[in-house]
Amino acid sequence: MTLLPIQVLGQPILRQETVPVAQVTPTIRALVEQMFETMHAANGIGLAAPQVGRTERLAVVEIEGARYVLLNPEVIAASTETAKAEEGCLSIPEVFADVERPVSVTVRAMDLDGQTVEIPASDLLARCFQHEIDHLHGKLFIDHLGMFKRRQVLAKWERLKGDYPTGVRTLTPGEDAARSAKG
Ligand code: ZN
Repeated sequence: MTLLPIQVLGQPILRQETVPVAQVTPTIRALVEQMFETMHAANGIGLAAPQVGRTERLAVVEIEGARYVLLNPEVIAASTETAKAEEGCLSIPEVFADVERPVSVTVRAMDLDGQTVEIPASDLLARCFQHEIDHLHGKLFIDHLGMFKRRQVLAKWERLKGDYPTGVRTLTPGEDAARSAKG
């Protein structure tokens, strides 16, 4: 098992645009496997490549045992109905805030067979897809917050970030992260 170090807020790679995946290579397959292992160890439900220091446009999601590998994903349709729910992020540990997003989306992506798939999603799955796709464009959930709330969570992060002097979170198997719905 290979657990990848998770980049935390402040690391420039979290703010960079990713590079589309041209084809599914053994390197991509190995990265996907390691990302699932890392996400499980962190008790997350989603993980995007920049969070593990990589530039591929690739994210993994797993909710209630259903696994999704998203290569070059994009939201091709979104409901006008939106909802607010609490989000967290493996790259901003212990920080949570309500984010408003469309309730349902359809995501187009390439799967591990190199096939284009369209995945309709709603509620938590839709939220997680949107959170991960944001990561692939250098965007974090805190960017969706109003100015006041954003300032509040950044102040909290100022107190927490000293726990990660190297800018990365190193996981150990079975680490028990605190809350649900983290991507
Ligand atoms: Zn995240």
